[in-house]
Amino acid sequence: MVVQKQEAIMQIKTVSTKKILGIPVAGVPGMDIEEGAPLTSVAALPDKIPLIKPRLLVKKGDHVKIGSPLFEDKGNPKLRFLSPGGGTIADIGYGQRRVITRIVVETDKAEEYESFDPIDEKKLREQDPGSLMEAMMERGLWPLIRSLPYRAIAAPDEKPASLWVCLDPADPFQVPSGVYLKGNEARFAFGIRILEKMGAPVFVCESEQAPVEDDRIASLITHRVSGAYPAEDPGVVLYHTKKTAEENRAWFVKGQDVLLIAEGMATGRYPTSRIVAVSASANGDASGNRCVKTRLGAPLAALVKNPQTAAGRRWIMGGLFQGHTTVPEDYMGFYETSLTLIEEATDPELFGFLRPGLYKPTASRAFLYALHKKHFTAKADLRGEERACINCGKCEQVCPVDIMVQFTYKCIYAGEIEEALLHGLLDCVECGLCSYVCPAKIELAETLKTTRHDYYQDRI
Ligand code: SF4
Ligand code: SF4
Repeated sequence: MVVQKQEAIMQIKTVSTKKILGIPVAGVPGMDIEEGAPLTSVAALPDKIPLIKPRLLVKKGDHVKIGSPLFEDKGNPKLRFLSPGGGTIADIGYGQRRVITRIVVETDKAEEYESFDPIDEKKLREQDPGSLMEAMMERGLWPLIRSLPYRAIAAPDEKPASLWVCLDPADPFQVPSGVYLKGNEARFAFGIRILEKMGAPVFVCESEQAPVEDDRIASLITHRVSGAYPAEDPGVVLYHTKKTAEENRAWFVKGQDVLLIAEGMATGRYPTSRIVAVSASANGDASGNRCVKTRLGAPLAALVKNPQTAAGRRWIMGGLFQGHTTVPEDYMGFYETSLTLIEEATDPELFGFLRPGLYKPTASRAFLYALHKKHFTAKADLRGEERACINCGKCEQVCPVDIMVQFTYKCIYAGEIEEALLHGLLDCVECGLCSYVCPAKIELAETLKTTRHDYYQDRI
């Protein structure tokens, strides 16, 4: 991976690492946008927003507008999450320990909007960081700004050392920048000007594989990143550019979310439009690989062309490597812009260990697949169960932020969290590569993520 700071800011910096694993997976979405199906219900999913404690502000049967508050964070009641639909609260779902899992809104034929004061270029110039943050909270836009290293919603009283915007998503199954920026260049530039008012330097990263052509955005680019997944994760870029420990306190915003911030401020309406990458990495799947224009909180079944055919697949929301398993009856969460359908696990292969494995994707040279390196169709097959670590060191070889993954995992297992922190636990960017390559099938990435979240919760 190479991170290069452009001459525009009079300084060129190059950082390279060979610890990047190119995974040739089939099913990356195309560059065209399709209009999604009309929706009759949408939902907010409080439990999919990490590291908050939701408190309900509505009850079943209430009438809400687009932009009405549905729930707030108990730790910071100013942090409100707004309704993606106008209509009636049809259902409120609870999980274990009464965790609120979903708030479903049955939409009216003519939905109404809450309206806020629009903030244009002139008004923006008059804003100070404090009033701007208040305005973003009121409009439900603040949760789009998150902080490193925990990836929690940014704390408004925090002073970040920098604010990062990576145009292209780290996960190959997300919406490419060329898709969401097309026709929205001026709005994106306005979004960056809003972020610049926060007081921290804003760094905008483009991918070397997808350089920006439009001048309005090209003039904003400060870094160029090359390399395979997850080179463009803001945590990876920060890790390879920071010089001091203070720089660890950084914020980041996804490229598509910059547009939402700009739209919400400029129009005074809660922005609900989303472009979602739908990838069916399964042979012959009727859903195809495409970008769908839909809205926040859409039912997942409405995103695929043929939900019946797709029902036998494993549904993954949020990216193949970083997402979570879900079901067709679920809805799209606040940060989620990727739905991937893969073939479910099949029964164990008889004498599979004797076969040469020409079509068994592998990060090692254990199968003949390593010779041809074709793009493979992802499947849910684990090919074996979790077993003891064999100290092969593969997890460390692929980690993009140089964590001693094996030792970190063992420290966590032994309850030695301070020791795990010394091995780099907080630098983890949740890319999942360590779990992907581990021949012992250990859920390394999930273990590190849960431990980081527990550590964060203990500190606040
Ligand atoms: S520890 Fe694993 S999940 Fe975390 S950054 Fe390293 S490879 Fe990725
Ligand atoms: S990849 Fe798995 S088996 Fe190998 S050292 Fe890491 S944890 Fe152990």
